[in-house]
Amino acid sequence: MFDGLTTVSPSLRPTSRGGSETPLPQLPPALNSPEDCQKRAQLPPLPQVECIARARIPTTNDTEIYLHLYANDIDQKEHLAIVFGENIRSKTLFRQRGANEPSQDRMTRGAYVGKLYPGRTDANEDTKMGLKLVFDETTGELLGEPACDPTLARIHSECYTGETAWSARCDCGEQFDEAGRLMGREGRGVIVYLRQEGRGIGLGEKLKAYNLQDLGADTVQANLLLRHPADGRSFGLATSILLDLGLEEIKLMTNNPDKIIAVEGNERQVRVIERVPMVPLAWRGLGGGIKSKEVDGYLRTKIEKMGHMLDQK
Ligand SMILES: [Zn+2]
Repeated sequence: MFDGLTTVSPSLRPTSRGGSETPLPQLPPALNSPEDCQKRAQLPPLPQVECIARARIPTTNDTEIYLHLYANDIDQKEHLAIVFGENIRSKTLFRQRGANEPSQDRMTRGAYVGKLYPGRTDANEDTKMGLKLVFDETTGELLGEPACDPTLARIHSECYTGETAWSARCDCGEQFDEAGRLMGREGRGVIVYLRQEGRGIGLGEKLKAYNLQDLGADTVQANLLLRHPADGRSFGLATSILLDLGLEEIKLMTNNPDKIIAVEGNERQVRVIERVPMVPLAWRGLGGGIKSKEVDGYLRTKIEKMGHMLDQK
């Protein structure tokens, strides 16, 4: 997965080992044209989210992640946050549920500091690591630990074909791996994983769109032929999840200016301080990456019809 993971580095600057290995962060585009402002004004209010459970996942790449599962008030899907960094904490998960909530209950749902080990009895203090949580006695809210912003963030929409079925029609799997690689290297970051398959149209409709693409349509035309929007995704859940994790300023990994507007939210509750370009591996001249006529067309349509900030190869 996160191929080429190295030890934690505080900086994204290229190393002597790989000068062009990682695109440098940039200032985000201004996004204050009348059209951009209109897009922002049309965003719905942010949904409510609640983190239900969190667990440590050791990965095959020598780094640990904390997987957070969220419920929300606009759909029944289990959206996720893949968190790199033990000290990024969900407000809704850690909030005390009654003054006498048993520590075992808190540890079971993942609201613990440090690491679990056999025999541990206190969710709020890890004596081995010297970590202790402090709460507001009235509200039960977690106190302290000011956010260390901006944090690397990637908003990833589920893509069964690209992540699991080895599809070379898109580069979703590659981008997901790249986000994990960079966050593993920084030791800090969040991938919000939204359950909106096929740009929001669902897997069945996406498969129909693939057949229309084989019949000559591009990715936008295929969706429109099926009477779906070119891109039916929404990102309000991602904004709410980032805020729940205390991340008000982020370095967003994206080429998509509309995604920046959408993720910032209707009142710019989250701010994209930097943009980290996502350059396809096959375009970097370092070997590897997806090579297919389908992915070429997919990327070309993103650039020509969807305004992605990527220099066409
Ligand atoms: Zn995909």
